[in-house]
Amino acid sequence: MPTRRHRYLSPLRVAPMQWETTASYIQRLAQRHHLTTTELLHALGIPTPHTHPECTRPRSPSTTIELYLNPASRHLITQFTGIENTRLTHALPQWGKHRDKSPTAPPKARLRLAPVHAITGCPHCTLTRTGHAHPVQQYLSSTALICRRHRIWMLGTHTLNGKPFPTEHADLTRTPEILAAHQDHTRLLRRWGQAADHGLTYAMALTDTGDAPHPPTNASGPPAPAASAPPAPACGTPSPATPSPTPKPSPSPSSSPATPARSTSSNTPADPTPSTPPSPPSSAEPG
Ligand SMILES: [Zn+2]
Repeated sequence: MPTRRHRYLSPLRVAPMQWETTASYIQRLAQRHHLTTTELLHALGIPTPHTHPECTRPRSPSTTIELYLNPASRHLITQFTGIENTRLTHALPQWGKHRDKSPTAPPKARLRLAPVHAITGCPHCTLTRTGHAHPVQQYLSSTALICRRHRIWMLGTHTLNGKPFPTEHADLTRTPEILAAHQDHTRLLRRWGQAADHGLTYAMALTDTGDAPHPPTNASGPPAPAASAPPAPACGTPSPATPSPTPKPSPSPSSSPATPARSTSSNTPADPTPSTPPSPPSSAEPG
């Protein structure tokens, strides 16, 4: 449990962003104190994170390395930040996912692949909410990848025609039809719930492959979209209380910018807080 050296409360408050990765949050916390992540962890009495072998093997660039903290380590962080564990649990989808559940075990940390991908959130919202331009990696569902307020599409790190695409965010100022489609889809989600996502999946499959999959049979939902349904962009607004990034069908590398193949930058295993922070969570507990 905490030793005397880290019993103080940091005067520098660093609030977590909703759906932020734990690695991203701890990295921001360290930077706020002019430390690296490892330095901060050591200062709090948390040893260097153990890197799981899966992080060192060749892997898809669209993977996210996440930092998992056991209960003792999380306790040290909450003591230092002054932010309650319940709030961090609500904001950080992988916060409590370390496999070690023992409350008496010494502080431990692990680096493992996250069950879902994280992407860099809307830079304007980040600046507004954190006061800093440092990018924040978030587990955003496919329905939360568009910020209508700032007209930004969070594409993530991806490739186009097999080549790295130079930007993670698309400016939708000149494409109001995408914003309108996002608004329509958000409205459909509110009205039809999951059935609206089936429609989106159906439309994306059509645009990706040209094949019409079997439409969902849901008597309580809306009718399946017609084969001529226009391609719907990833959009929508997830429930704030349930950040359940929906693994959406992987767009093909040759897809247009409107449906990019996203591949989040890989994080350096040796550094638990990648400079280009990590995309969405599931019930799996990889920590
Ligand atoms: Zn925004």
